[in-house]
Amino acid sequence: MEGPCQISASATSVAPEGCRQHRSTYIEPAPALTTPAPTVFRVQGLTKVYSMGEVFVHALRGVDLEICTGEFVVLLGHSGSGKSTLLNMLGGLDQPTAGSIHFRDQDLTRASPQELTLYRRRSVGFVFQFYNLIPSLTATENVALVTDISPAAMRPEEALRLVQLYDRRNSFPSQLSGGQQQRVAIARAIAKRPEVLLCDEPTGALDVSTGISVLEAILTINQSLQTTTIVITHNATIGEMADRVVTLRDGRINEDYRPRVRKSVQELNW
Ligand code: ADP
Ligand code: MG
Repeated sequence: MEGPCQISASATSVAPEGCRQHRSTYIEPAPALTTPAPTVFRVQGLTKVYSMGEVFVHALRGVDLEICTGEFVVLLGHSGSGKSTLLNMLGGLDQPTAGSIHFRDQDLTRASPQELTLYRRRSVGFVFQFYNLIPSLTATENVALVTDISPAAMRPEEALRLVQLYDRRNSFPSQLSGGQQQRVAIARAIAKRPEVLLCDEPTGALDVSTGISVLEAILTINQSLQTTTIVITHNATIGEMADRVVTLRDGRINEDYRPRVRKSVQELNW
């Protein structure tokens, strides 16, 4: 049996078990291709209810999920299914109504605002649909905003090289295409070497070919830095390039599987 924290070259579409559950049943060293990876996130009974006056919106209705080191997870679901709510809580931007989230050994749901700030600053890179670059700064300068305050950061030029934009490092956002601007935003998110990269509809504003260049950049980061990566999309095709696809429906996990054949980014078409 494979759990979500088993990295296997011959991934099959099994329903993943929890990483902990798997480790507790792991008796003999696995032959060849399987290696248990540590859990990055452990989410239990996660519930979020927004109250809008007399109306209550149940955004998450008891989500259980484990995400493992280095995984590339695509979080799929229709608009309003709870994807952003879940991602924001994983990133320490919001707190649940009930349930818990552990990031390694830290219970984020019991963390103080200061601890959450440190967690976001050190451990999380965010990429959103809109790039939020500063128009009066070059690509390098936009990335340097982060690297200047992070002791373990790479140089801005190095981050831009990872997203294939070294040659455009002196360009201003207005001189770059949408996809290039998003890649600057990715460079900015990962320059501090975060353990996790959380992307909320990173290709939502882009056409196919530009979206592909952005997904390539995210995959390169995942593979070269082993950054655990979660990408939200409502586009099921993007799930074909993932290690694992988690589908939300109406605030609950509906599916959780590993694509039988993992496609390269170039093979995607939507
Ligand atoms: P998705 O990202 O899958 O489109 P969201 O997580 O943004 O879904 O939203 C899930 C549900 O929670 C939706 O019904 C949405 O309207 C509601 N919701 C999200 N954020 C808020 C908020 N700040 N206040 C009230 N309702 C919210
Ligand atoms: Mg959303």
